[in-house]
Amino acid sequence: MHWKIPLSDLNYGPEEEEAVSAVIRSGWLSMGAVTQAFEAEFAAFVGAKHALALTNATAALHLACLACDLGPGDEVILPALTFVASANAVRYTGATPVFADIESEDWLTLAPSAIEAAITPRTRAIMVMHYAGFPCDMPAITAIARAHNLAVIEDAAHAVGASLDNRALGTWGDLGCYSFFANKNLSTAEGGMLVTDDDALAEKVRLLRSHGMTTLTWDRHHGHASTYDVVELGYNYRIDELRSALGRVQLTRVAAGNARRAELTSLYRHLLAQSAPQISMPFSQPRGQSSYHILPILLPEGVNKPAFMAKMRAEGIQTSWHYPPVHTFHAYAKNNQALSSRLPLTEAVAARQVTLPLFPTMTEEQVTCVVKGVADSSKL
Ligand SMILES: *Cc1c(COP(=O)(O)O)cnc(C)c1O
Repeated sequence: MHWKIPLSDLNYGPEEEEAVSAVIRSGWLSMGAVTQAFEAEFAAFVGAKHALALTNATAALHLACLACDLGPGDEVILPALTFVASANAVRYTGATPVFADIESEDWLTLAPSAIEAAITPRTRAIMVMHYAGFPCDMPAITAIARAHNLAVIEDAAHAVGASLDNRALGTWGDLGCYSFFANKNLSTAEGGMLVTDDDALAEKVRLLRSHGMTTLTWDRHHGHASTYDVVELGYNYRIDELRSALGRVQLTRVAAGNARRAELTSLYRHLLAQSAPQISMPFSQPRGQSSYHILPILLPEGVNKPAFMAKMRAEGIQTSWHYPPVHTFHAYAKNNQALSSRLPLTEAVAARQVTLPLFPTMTEEQVTCVVKGVADSSKL
C-alpha cells in the first residue's frame, strides 16, 4: 500500500550508501574494525564503559538475561505494554515473565509501586521499557532493585539519545539494550547494541555473542591467535561490518533527528488540543529528555478503534498500535489469565491507544493533515 503519510520513514542520505560501499571495497564483511569503531563511538555517546554490537535488540535482551544468570524458577518483572520481544527474551532462558502495570494513563511505563507489589522470593530481575523513549522512573526503580538485590535490564529499544537527569537511558540499569531495526531512531536495517559498565557482564556477553569462543575470526586473521576454546554454550548474535558502517553514520544523525521529532511532537500536542480536544496525548508532564520514538495518542472511551484506524487508512494515513499487551497473546495467555486483574491501566490504555506518524523528515503540513484526519475520524 502506498501511504500519503507513512508511520515512519528512514533518515538516510548519501553518506550511508558510501559507508556501505567502503566496507564492500575493504573486503572484510563480518565483525572487525568498523564494528569496533561503532562500539566505541556508541559507548561514548551513551556514556557506558562497554558497548557490544549485536544482530538485533532481541538478541541483546536474551544475552542480558543470560548474563544475569536467569533460568527456570526465576521471575522477572516487566511491563505487558511492550513489544513481545522483551518477554520472549526472559522466556528463552526458562525464567518466568511477571507482568506489572504502568504508572498512569499519562505515563505509560512500569510503575514502581506495581513492581514492589509483584516481588516474590523468586524475583531475580526487573526489565523496564522506556516507552516511546520517555524515561521510566529510574531513581525509584533502581532503589527498589538495590533493596531487594535484583538486576535491572533496560529495554531501551525506543530510547537511543534519550536521558534522565543527564544520564542516558540504557545506562541506569546493569545492562541496557538498544534496537537498530528499520523503523527505530537509529537504523541499520537489523541491529542492536548492549551496554554495561560491568566488566564481568561485558565479558560474558562478548563470549555468548560468538559461540562462547575465546577468540574471533578477526583475531586469527590478524595473527593474534591461532586456535580457540569454547567455554560457554554461546550463540551467533554477531553484527556485520555493513551494519556497523550504517550505524556509525546514523549515530551522527540521532541528535538532530530526535530534536526534529521533539518539535513535531510539540506541534502535534498544540494542534490536537486545538482541533481534537477529545484526544489525549500521554507523557504531558516533564520528565527527562525523550527520544520521541513514536507518537502515541489515546482515543476517547467509546470510539471504535478499528473504525478509526480504517478511516485514517482511507485518508492515506498509516497508524499503528503500541502495543497489544503481551499477556493477551495466545503464546502467553494460558500462563497469565489470573494476571489480567493486576493490569487495569495497561488494559484500559491499550484498548484506546493508537500511534500516529512521526519521523524526522516529516513536514508541518503533514502533521496538520494527520491532525485533521484524527479530528474527523474520532468524533463520537
Ligand atoms: C523493536 C523493539 C524490540 C526488538 O528489537 P529488534 O532489534 O527488532 O530485535 C524490543 N523491544 C522493543 C520495545 C522494541 O520496540
